[in-house]
Amino acid sequence: MNKKRKNVKFAYGAVLLTVVFLSLLFSRGNKGYNVILISIDTLRADHLGVYGYHRDTSPNIDALAKDSIVFENAISQASWTLPSHVSIFTSKYPPEIYPYNLSANMSDDYMASLARKEFVAHPNIATVLKGNGYSTVAFTSGGYVAGRLGFENGFDIYDDSYMQIKNPAPQITSRAIEWLEANRTNKFFLFLHYFDVHCPYEPLPEFQKFYLESQSRFNLSLRCAELDFSKLRFSNDEEAANSSDVNRIIGGYDDSITQVDYYLGEFIDKLKGYGIYDNTIIVILSDHGETLYNHTGSDYFSDDFPTGYAGHGFSLFNEVLRVPLIIKYPGSSHQIVQERVGIVDVLPTVLDILKMDAPFNFSGKSALNIERDRNLIAVSGRVKDFPYGGYAVFNDSHKMIFKERKDGTNATFLYDLGTDGNEVSNLGSVKPDISGKLKDWLFYTLNVMVQNVAVKGHEDAAGTRIVDMEDILQNLAQQGYFGA
Ligand SMILES: [Zn+2]
Repeated sequence: MNKKRKNVKFAYGAVLLTVVFLSLLFSRGNKGYNVILISIDTLRADHLGVYGYHRDTSPNIDALAKDSIVFENAISQASWTLPSHVSIFTSKYPPEIYPYNLSANMSDDYMASLARKEFVAHPNIATVLKGNGYSTVAFTSGGYVAGRLGFENGFDIYDDSYMQIKNPAPQITSRAIEWLEANRTNKFFLFLHYFDVHCPYEPLPEFQKFYLESQSRFNLSLRCAELDFSKLRFSNDEEAANSSDVNRIIGGYDDSITQVDYYLGEFIDKLKGYGIYDNTIIVILSDHGETLYNHTGSDYFSDDFPTGYAGHGFSLFNEVLRVPLIIKYPGSSHQIVQERVGIVDVLPTVLDILKMDAPFNFSGKSALNIERDRNLIAVSGRVKDFPYGGYAVFNDSHKMIFKERKDGTNATFLYDLGTDGNEVSNLGSVKPDISGKLKDWLFYTLNVMVQNVAVKGHEDAAGTRIVDMEDILQNLAQQGYFGA
C-alpha cells in the first residue's frame, strides 16, 4: 500500500471515529435502533405455533419468537380495526379518543373523523420517532388503516394502495424490501399491515392446504360482503354452516396465516442479509382476533347466530381480544411473559427499549416492567348501523363483559379465565359482588375517559394529561376494586 492510500485510509478512519464519537455524544440510550411494527390483521394468538396451535401454521414467526419476548396474554383494546390501531399508535384507550357511550349512534365517517382529529392533534408512534430523526414509512392494506384517517401523520411515506387486493402479502413485502434496499442506511420506522388473514380467508392457490381438505365448497365471501349489521343477520345464506363448512372456514383462515408467515420469513431473511436484523426492534401483533364459531348466538344475547359465526367486531370473547404480541429487540432472548398486557402498552414498550422519554402521558405502560396482570378495558364495535355497544373489563383472573341487548336492556357476564379459558360458564349470578365492582369501575373509568375527551384532547395548555389513567387504576386498586 502506498503512502497516499495509507493517508486516505487514516483520514477515513479518523472521520469514522469522529462520527461515532459525535453520535454517542448526541444520542441518548438506544436511539440508533430501527423499529419495525408488523400488524397482521385479524390474527388470533392461539392459531400460531408459538402459542401452542396444533397445526404448523407459522414456522417463521415461531423462529423469530426464539429471539423474542412472547407475551402469552396480550389483549387488544378493541374488537375491530380502527380503534385498535389507534390504541397501538397512541397508547390511549378507544374511549379516550371516541365519545363512547351506550346511547351514541355514531356513523362510520364520524368515527373516522375523530380518529383523524386525534392523530393530527397528538403525537403517535410515527411522529415521536420522526421527531427523533427516523425515516418513517408504511405499507398497509386494510381499509380502516387508511392514511386519510390520520394514520399518515408523521410518516414520510404512507402507502395504503394495497387495500383492494385480497391477498396483499406478496406486494406489501416486496415493497418493504424494495424500500429497505434503497433506504436502510438511516435509522427507520417501518409499519407493515397485512390483511390476508381477514375474511374471506381465501389464500393464494399455493397456500391452500387445509382449505381444500374439507368437502365443503362453502363461499365465505358472500358472508363477509353481506353481513347485515343493521339486522345482525346474514342477508344471504342464513342457513347455519355445517361442520364441514366450518372446517373449510378454519382451514382457509389457517392457510392464510401460513401465507403471511411465508412472506414474513422472506422479509426477515432480507433483514439478516442486509445486516440490520440485530440492530432492529421487531414487533409482531394483531389488532384483534376472530371468532370461528367459538360461541353461539345465545352467548351474544341474540338468537341471530344459532351456531355462531366467523368474524369480529361485536364479540368481546377472547378468541377476538387475545392477540399475539412478540417483541424482538437488540439483546433480547426467548422469554415467555404470562402477565396480561395490552396493545395500549406497545408504544411505551418501544420507547422504553429505545430509552426515549415519553412525550406525553401514556395510558399504557412498558410491557418490559409488568409485575402483575394489567387491569384492562376493551370495547366492541359501534359502527354504521351496528346497534350494540359493549365493554370487556379484565381484572386478575376475572373478565366481565357488559353488553347491550337488542331490546335496549343490558347484560353482564362474568368469567373466571383461570378456570374457564373458553368463557363458557357465566358467573354473573354466582359472584354478583365481583360483577358489581367491575361494573362500577367500568362506568367510573369510562366517565373519566369521556371527560378527558371533552376537555379538548385530554391535555391542558402545559401538555399535562388532566386525568391520568394509570392514576385511576392505582386509586381504584387502593379502594379495593382490584387485587386481593
Ligand atoms: Zn382488523
